[in-house]
Amino acid sequence: MEQPRFVEQTQPGTVFGLLSDDNRVEILCTLWDSNEPMRFSELRDAVGLRDSGQFNYHLDKLTSQFVEKTDQGYVLTTAGRQINGAIEAGSYTTTGEMEPIEIDQPCGFCDGTRMFYYEDEQARVECDTCPVKARFSVPPSAFVGCDRADIPRVAAEYMRVTLESIDSGFCSLCDGPVEQTVCRAVDSEDWEEGGSEHEKTVGRPETLPVVRYECKQCGIEPQGLLNYTLLDHPETVAFYYDHGINLQEQSLLDIRQLGRDCGQVQGTDPFRASVSFAVDGDQLTLVVDEDLTVVDTERTTTG
Ligand SMILES: [Zn+2]
Ligand SMILES: [Zn+2]
Repeated sequence: MEQPRFVEQTQPGTVFGLLSDDNRVEILCTLWDSNEPMRFSELRDAVGLRDSGQFNYHLDKLTSQFVEKTDQGYVLTTAGRQINGAIEAGSYTTTGEMEPIEIDQPCGFCDGTRMFYYEDEQARVECDTCPVKARFSVPPSAFVGCDRADIPRVAAEYMRVTLESIDSGFCSLCDGPVEQTVCRAVDSEDWEEGGSEHEKTVGRPETLPVVRYECKQCGIEPQGLLNYTLLDHPETVAFYYDHGINLQEQSLLDIRQLGRDCGQVQGTDPFRASVSFAVDGDQLTLVVDEDLTVVDTERTTTG
């Protein structure tokens, strides 16, 4: 089958250079705020640039990449809307820090107290007593209007959406295609950090399965535990639903209720790893291959 072909029109440096002028950013923001296409004079008045020639010059620079002229007037292109979305998200304009917040649910691995930290748009959840950590990006806009006490939950919700996006094969940063591979923790570069301390809580690196994601476009390589990824699998969702638990309503912070099994690598040739979820004496076990395809499922009653 023939691949679709995309032609690169402009160098990224040139595109972002187009935005290095306050008048142009003002034009984008004005069109963003307007729910309807705007005529030339209407847009110029709203931006507040009297000089028609100068205004035309700036508008012309934006046209095609960020602004499009239609029969009804000027509108934003998708790229123009994304630039505004990024400005609203605060990623380019806000820096923020907050005092650490104690999380009301204890650590799922050791029952220790967990703290939530937010710095440089990175949220971190760290346990006081064991080395289990989570780190993920959250834009400041996610916390608009949010009570301080709710911030860890909102961040966890944001992380869940990010996970769903990469699990569906789209990069959360650039929307490019993401490939997923399951491997042993010992085979992933990130394992070093936790070292032997991790063994006591999540398992031995030789048998602990992790999911490695790789964006084919921007090259980011996030990594996560297999049990988190499999929470979205229809078998898991159905298993909990049959026991009266709607996983969609569960916060990732409460994951300890969903069992502590981080999974087990069963073999490497071919690669097989399993994760079990337990509730009310029933157990669901999923077996995946290295492409994260579920190759076997089993429900058993243990209690
Ligand atoms: Zn802990
Ligand atoms: Zn990407």
